[in-house]
Amino acid sequence: MDSIVRNYLEQFGVREETRRFLEQPQRMLIGGAFVAGGEGEGLDVIEPSTEGVITQIPLATTGDLDRAVAAARAQFDGGAWRRLKPLERERLLHRLADLVEAHADELAEIESIDVGKSVANARDVDIQGTIDTYRYFAGWASKLHGRTVEPSLPGHYLAYTRKEPVGVVGIIVPWNFPLQTLAWKLAAALAVGCTAVIKPAELTSLSTLRFAQLVQEAGIPDGVVNVVTGRGDVIGAAMARHPGIDKVTFTGSTAVGRDVGSAAVDGVKRVTLELGGKSPVLVLDDADVEAAARAVANGMFFNSGQVCDAGSRLYVQRGVHERFLAALIDYTRTLKIAPGLDRDCFISPLVSAQQKARVTSWIETGRREGAELVYGGRNVEGSGYFVQPTIFAHCRPDMRIVKEEIFGPVLVSAPFDDLNEAVALANDTPYGLAAAIYSRDLNRVHALVPKLRAGSVYVNAHSTIDPAMPFGGFKASGFGKDLGSEQLDSLMETKAVWITLNDA
Ligand code: NAD
Repeated sequence: MDSIVRNYLEQFGVREETRRFLEQPQRMLIGGAFVAGGEGEGLDVIEPSTEGVITQIPLATTGDLDRAVAAARAQFDGGAWRRLKPLERERLLHRLADLVEAHADELAEIESIDVGKSVANARDVDIQGTIDTYRYFAGWASKLHGRTVEPSLPGHYLAYTRKEPVGVVGIIVPWNFPLQTLAWKLAAALAVGCTAVIKPAELTSLSTLRFAQLVQEAGIPDGVVNVVTGRGDVIGAAMARHPGIDKVTFTGSTAVGRDVGSAAVDGVKRVTLELGGKSPVLVLDDADVEAAARAVANGMFFNSGQVCDAGSRLYVQRGVHERFLAALIDYTRTLKIAPGLDRDCFISPLVSAQQKARVTSWIETGRREGAELVYGGRNVEGSGYFVQPTIFAHCRPDMRIVKEEIFGPVLVSAPFDDLNEAVALANDTPYGLAAAIYSRDLNRVHALVPKLRAGSVYVNAHSTIDPAMPFGGFKASGFGKDLGSEQLDSLMETKAVWITLNDA
């Protein structure tokens, strides 16, 4: 660990167990064993506010992946896991949730140090969401069932359906909410009786490696959950093609999701894709302007805008446009820019130098395209991958900053006149992950909701997420759902059983 990172941890009084974990050699989990695996030196993990090296993670080889898949396969094809009763799976999932809860502050610190994100938000959102998701799906383990059907065929039959776990699930996740996104996929997979091979994002694997230790401590049988850390274009791509994996569930960019989807379909694997977004926010002229301004800023700048369903395209009805923008700018000015371990920080550094360069270049593109920069856009002095929250006004629909996902703290906006125009602007995108409406008039809200082509519609708030509610996009934002009872079917096969009976 670089001394600059060590000083940073000391400055903010990071707990002893966090420090101990970060100082340990990092190990992957394959078949119940913690192994160095990989080839060569491993990959440096950078802390985003100091730009110092925290540690290294193994770069898995495809041989490591094969071993992980074989372990998951062996458990699925007749290991102890398949013999467990539903209530036993339920108990193990609760035990895992208990362990995450017992280590919540440590996990929040690891997430903050690795991703750069606010430690307070990591505790309240990422880790709490993780705990809640394991608890929610624990309860489903004992509530899965098929149905009996009365056929009209001549003769007598007992015809019924059985729900069976799909098999070995390959889980590929991005870097913005590492542990929580993993929970969204793993909890349901384990609840229905699948086994798993996990590939965290190479930038942010640390919380998953710590979580892997908790999986073992919970007593989940060896090989049910495996973690391989490695490059997306090597290990992720190999997972999408691997004949030993029955289903791939992927969260990440639309570009990579397309490749993962084609490889999965090519191998006739099941696949769920949770992809990018450019989610519209509609502020109607009857909205509570001050409250909406706060919610819009939070919905855009939370996690420094590195949120798939961030409300990143803002449309404000002309009557309140100027007043709303003024309130939005006033509130955005109060958001503290600071390192993630500062408990008061709201705008933390972006995850990497590359991400900072990408977002900064989008701000330049906005300027060049003639959008009106009304807030931010300046460099933040000193070390760290910080980018000021930035707001562009009077953007035209054909601008690239309006069309493409930026995945950083950059909000584009424009006024609209009537609701038909608002719907047309909102839907003018290949994406369809989420949309938000701010209004006090329920009639107008209800008229808008069915017209918005988005997987989630938030009214007078943004990114209200709960494990009981499905999450997933329309259009190029992917297909299939995570969370909610809707997710369960995507992890199970339905078997139709016909028993021919003789006349009694
Ligand atoms: P990414 O697509 O670059 O990477 C996502 C994961 O895929 C990582 O683990 C990466 O290692 C792996 N990967 C990279 N190349 C691969 C390949 N060729 N084959 C298989 N796997 C590969 O995305 P990112 O930059 O980590 O995350 C940001 C993107 O994720 C944004 O577009 C964002 O909108 C999206 N996202 C979507 C959701 C959602 O639920 N819809 C949630 C979070 C993030």
